[in-house]
Amino acid sequence: MFEHTRAVDRRSLLKTAGLGAAASAVGLQGARAATSPDKVRGVVFMVSDGMSPGVLTMAQAYSKLTRNRGTLWWDLNNRAGSTRGLMDTASANSMVTDSAAASSAWGGGQRVNNGAINVSTEGKAIEPIAAILKRRTKARIGLVTTATVTHATPAGFASSVPKRGSENDIAPQYLDRVDVILGGGSGYFDASLRPDKRDLRGDFVKAGYQSILNRDGLLAAKGAKLIGTFTKGHLPFSLDRDNLAALKKSVPSLREMATAALGRFLEGDKPFLLQIEGARIDHAAHLNDIGGLLGEQIAFDNALAAVLELTATHPDVLVVVTSDHGNSNPGLNGMGNAYTESTQRFARITRMKASHERIFSEWSLVKDGTPAKLTQLVKGHLDFTLDENEADALHKILSKGNVLEWNHQLDKPEGLLGQFAGNHTGIGWTGTTHTSDPTLITAIGPQASRFSGMVVNSDVFGHFIEMLG
Ligand SMILES: [Zn+2]
Repeated sequence: MFEHTRAVDRRSLLKTAGLGAAASAVGLQGARAATSPDKVRGVVFMVSDGMSPGVLTMAQAYSKLTRNRGTLWWDLNNRAGSTRGLMDTASANSMVTDSAAASSAWGGGQRVNNGAINVSTEGKAIEPIAAILKRRTKARIGLVTTATVTHATPAGFASSVPKRGSENDIAPQYLDRVDVILGGGSGYFDASLRPDKRDLRGDFVKAGYQSILNRDGLLAAKGAKLIGTFTKGHLPFSLDRDNLAALKKSVPSLREMATAALGRFLEGDKPFLLQIEGARIDHAAHLNDIGGLLGEQIAFDNALAAVLELTATHPDVLVVVTSDHGNSNPGLNGMGNAYTESTQRFARITRMKASHERIFSEWSLVKDGTPAKLTQLVKGHLDFTLDENEADALHKILSKGNVLEWNHQLDKPEGLLGQFAGNHTGIGWTGTTHTSDPTLITAIGPQASRFSGMVVNSDVFGHFIEMLG
C-alpha cells in the first residue's frame, strides 16, 4: 500500500531536513549507550494517556486517602537507579499533539501530522517498531490497553494508516506482528461486525493465537500468543468497573492484563517490547471528570506495581513510565480563606462513585428529565448537590440549548459538569482538549539514563532500536 522508509534512512533524513537539534540529541544519546555495559533484553513502556503533569500530585493525595499509601510512580522517583525527565510532545503540524501522532513519534521515529499513524507528512508509510523488531530479532511484541486495542496509542507501535479512525484496517496489521494483544475493541476482529465480513479472529486463531473474550478466560489462558478483547468498544472506566459487579466479573483490570502479557514475555530469553496503556485517563480529562481520572490513574499505578514486582528479578528489563501529552491540565485550586479549605475539598473526590460517562449515559435514558431529576442523578453518583442555576444550565445544555459560557472549551455538558464539581472539590480545568505541556517520564533498569532530561518524543524510537534492534 505504501513504500516503507527504512529506520536508518530516517535518521539521516532528520539531519538533512535541518532538524539539527533533534538529530544531534539522538547521536549524543547513542554515544552514551555505546559505552554502557547494561544489556537490555526487554522494555516495558507504560503510558498514562493524556496525563497532565499535575495528575502525579493529585493521584498521590488520592491514593493516600483511598489506599492509605502513596503511588508507586511517586515512589519510583525516589528509588536508587531511577531517572527522571520531561517529554517534549509536539507533533509535525501542531504544538498540541493527538495520540496518533504522539505514538507514531515513539513507534516510527518521526513526527507526523495529528490524526496519522506512521504515515509521514509526505504521505509515505513508515514501518512501525513492532515490524522492525520482529523482522530483525524475532522480538516478542505486546500491546495492552484499556481502549480498543486498535486505538491510536497501541496502533502507533504496530501499524501504518493515514487516519487513526481506520481501526478496521489497523487490526489485520497486528497478525503475526504482535504476540499479545489485550484490551477492548472486539468489533474490529469479528466477521459479523467488520465491514469486509472477514473472520479476522479466526485468522488469528489459525496463526496460533488463543482467543479470549472475558476475564476468566484471561486468567485461565495458557497460550503464548493471545488476542483478548473484552468489550466491543473501550473498556469501562475503573471507577465504574469497581462499582458494577457484572463489569468486574467480565472485564479484567489493567494490572491483570499487564501481568498476563509480561509474565509470558519474561519466560525464556527472547527480546521483547511491551506497551501498557492506561488509555482512559485521557478520556476522563476530556470529560473533566476528576473522580474517573484519578480512578484510572490508580488502576495504572496498580499495573505499574505488577510490572515492578515481576521485573524485580530481571535486571535486563527496562521499565519506562510516561504519558503522550497533557489534557485539560486539572489542578487543585486554593479554596477558602488562605486556602485552608483545599485539602478537605479535595477529599470529597473520594465520594464520587461513577464516571461522568456513566452519568451522561444514564441521563440519556431518562424520559422527560427535569433539572430536579438531574440534580438527583448527580447527587447519587458524585455526592454533591447542584444549585438551582447550575442544574438549570446543565439541563439546558444537555437538551441542546445554549447557556452563557465565556470559555468556549467548556461550553458543553462535560465542561459545565466539571466546573460545577470544581465548585465543591476545588479542581479546575483549562479546557476539554489536549495541551502542549511536557509530560513526566521516569525510567528504571538498564540504560534508564536514555530517558532522563528533556526527551524528544521522536527520539524514543531510536532508543528502542539501539536497545532491542
Ligand atoms: Zn485525547
